[in-house]
Amino acid sequence: MILKNFEDLTVYLNSPRNIVIIGHRNPDGDAVGSTLGLKHYLDKKGHTANVVMPNEYPDFLHWLPGSDTVKRFDHQNNQSVKALEKSDIVFLLDFNALHRVGDDMKNTLEKYKNDFALIDHHQQPDDFKYMYSDTAMSSTCEMVYNFIEMNNDVDLIDENIATCIYTGIMTDTGSFRFRSTTSKTHQIIATLIDKGAKNDRIHNNVYDANSYGRLQLLGQALTNLKIVEDCHTAFITLTQEEKNKFNFEKGDTEGVVNYALSVKGINLAAIFIEDVEQGIIKISFRSKGKFSVNQFARKYFSGGGHDNAAGGKSLDNMQDTIVKFTTLVNNYKQELATSYEA
Ligand code: 5GP
Ligand code: MN
Repeated sequence: MILKNFEDLTVYLNSPRNIVIIGHRNPDGDAVGSTLGLKHYLDKKGHTANVVMPNEYPDFLHWLPGSDTVKRFDHQNNQSVKALEKSDIVFLLDFNALHRVGDDMKNTLEKYKNDFALIDHHQQPDDFKYMYSDTAMSSTCEMVYNFIEMNNDVDLIDENIATCIYTGIMTDTGSFRFRSTTSKTHQIIATLIDKGAKNDRIHNNVYDANSYGRLQLLGQALTNLKIVEDCHTAFITLTQEEKNKFNFEKGDTEGVVNYALSVKGINLAAIFIEDVEQGIIKISFRSKGKFSVNQFARKYFSGGGHDNAAGGKSLDNMQDTIVKFTTLVNNYKQELATSYEA
């Protein structure tokens, strides 16, 4: 755990400030939940906080309180840059290095003269003036809760704050099932329910919001599922053509990789998703036990993440990417066989 200059940060936040809060590119439930949760809290403390996201996030997160105030750097560039220019400090949530916001936004942030405050649970964070980094945490949302608690402000948590934080903890823990879910996580969730988070509504809004096309695309993904013999590995592919056929929308493939991991005996799962516009194959990796997909993604697929959930990309075509992947995992047979003991 790294806690750097957070006492100074508390002092700095004793006066009203203009604040921008940023999440990573392709924001997920934890990125949107943590940035909005922190925004509601800081606004309540008398600051003026604005959330700026690099790009769009899935429909099933748009119901979150405050979502209508989020500025998108790619679409509302002027407003985003203005908010940044006006701000005294920038919070970076749920990512560990500036490149995770994408090149455009990174270039703007690098010119930025004011201070950064990082709150994040990814490995190997870059250095910023203020840092709260803890890879043992289930989610950045859990850390936002801890940040509020550090400031003795749990009393200030209202339904909006509770709803946002609950959502990110829920999505980043696979609904409280991953190993990162601790008794403290559950205690925080209990407090958030007491503060007004409506657990049934949140689960419904996030998980029972499938479009027909999304389920059809899932059907295609499951049809494409393949097992790599003797490697405890399963993977899924989705081509651009398949995505188009089922009216792919952002977020439609979220969580699909977990079906590959749910095959009995599988310790490593991957999904390869062709993105013709970006000219890449976007990859998600998941593992069970000791096999670190963070290291695997960093080493071979220009990516990173956590030990058991990471992502990366390939510039090769789908076929070559799959050949590369299956060749690689064959070199890790032993590690993959012993990664997880149920
Ligand atoms: P997902 O597979 O859900 O997109 O991402 C899983 C985890 O890996 C997330 O914590 C995400 O931040 C991280 N991740 C995904 N793609 C990349 C990438 O290209 N680079 C790095 N460094 N991390 C990634
Ligand atoms: Mn997260």
